[in-house]
Amino acid sequence: MKVFKFGGASVKNAEGVRNVADVVKRSGLDDLVIVVSAMGKTTNALEAITWAWLDGRPLNEAVDALEKAHGDILLEVAPEDRTAHVRLGDEFRAMRALLGGKPTKNIDRHYDQIVSFGEMWSSIIVQAHLNAAGVASAWWDARAVVRTDARYRAAGVNWEASAKGAEQFLANAPKSPLRVVTQGFIGSAPDGSTTTLGREGSDFSAAIFAYLLNAESVTIWKDVAGMFNADPHVFPDTKLLERISYREAIELSYFGASVIHPRTLQPLQRKNIPLYVRSFLDAAAEGSTISEATDRDTLVPSFIVKAQQLLISITPRDLSFIVEENLSAIFKVFAERNVRIDLMQNSALAFSVAVDDTPRSRELIQELGKDYQVRYNEACQLITVRHYDEKTLDQLLKDKDVLIEQRSRTTARFVVK
Ligand code: ASP
Ligand code: MG
Repeated sequence: MKVFKFGGASVKNAEGVRNVADVVKRSGLDDLVIVVSAMGKTTNALEAITWAWLDGRPLNEAVDALEKAHGDILLEVAPEDRTAHVRLGDEFRAMRALLGGKPTKNIDRHYDQIVSFGEMWSSIIVQAHLNAAGVASAWWDARAVVRTDARYRAAGVNWEASAKGAEQFLANAPKSPLRVVTQGFIGSAPDGSTTTLGREGSDFSAAIFAYLLNAESVTIWKDVAGMFNADPHVFPDTKLLERISYREAIELSYFGASVIHPRTLQPLQRKNIPLYVRSFLDAAAEGSTISEATDRDTLVPSFIVKAQQLLISITPRDLSFIVEENLSAIFKVFAERNVRIDLMQNSALAFSVAVDDTPRSRELIQELGKDYQVRYNEACQLITVRHYDEKTLDQLLKDKDVLIEQRSRTTARFVVK
């Protein structure tokens, strides 16, 4: 059994949905778990609806637009499937009923109940089309398998409970072929309410299914041809990373490469399940393979650029040294305010960090300012180069003002302006 994951961009319209069926057919595979995200920008639209509802702003037009868009696509890709039309209508009715209620204080819980509809709609449409296109598949509610804690919007997987869910799945899913369409991004809390795994969490869902069902591999179908050594929008000559290790891919996504969701790789690595990243636009191309390290791994310099960074420098007001006591107080403020540190460095008198420039980071600066002297530099870039060589670095830093530089054997990092 293999797992295929199709993201929002791959199912953004009728053509995309038809292409999913083509990719499935051409793969020649029978036993497949197909994990889909919400169509196109649906999740963003649902977020906007959630905020409007919480603020008591009108939202009927937005809901109608989503219903029309999804209804039209279904009509195009599975005109005859009456059951699917009824089910899609039921899901919209359920959402409207939710929005007819009064919000409570648990905003994140509301968010998950509403935003998760995007994946329900897309999975109904994709399954209906696969059936119409002659690759019959069952529809599966991912929440019956992916059991989580109750941390809405960033749910943690309960692996034991999910293993039981997977057992039930295997007992009840069709056997030959075992071909199932299910939702990414969503799970269920102990009380049965819907949870989400965090934005862009469908890759992680695919890995969860693969782990629980002991899949042979996971393929993430994207609108790019795999993982590259740099963002093609930023660098002119990018190279495909044909083969890399889990470790390398985890490092790259930790430093900010955005091709796969960072939590995706851990479950796969634990069971040594390879991950393929391939283009749904060019299904014949090999793409990238992420698996155990081999001597064929692609070790070209890789570049990850994070723009809009703040470089914050924190100094005790009495010019005492930066030591464990004040460091732990400083870290506590970052943890409490949920500000992720992308890079840090210290000297005797100053502790410097690079973070994303967000309203939360700005508030953190205010708070630290009460006890410390805080200075910051805005509009910085944090550049990470894996497997660097001097020539590449010279070229890269030619016209840049380097504020911080750090090097290990494999990785060089720079905060520049
Ligand atoms: N639909 C969700 C999102 O847009 C999950 C995903 O796409 O992976 O964040
Ligand atoms: Mg998405």
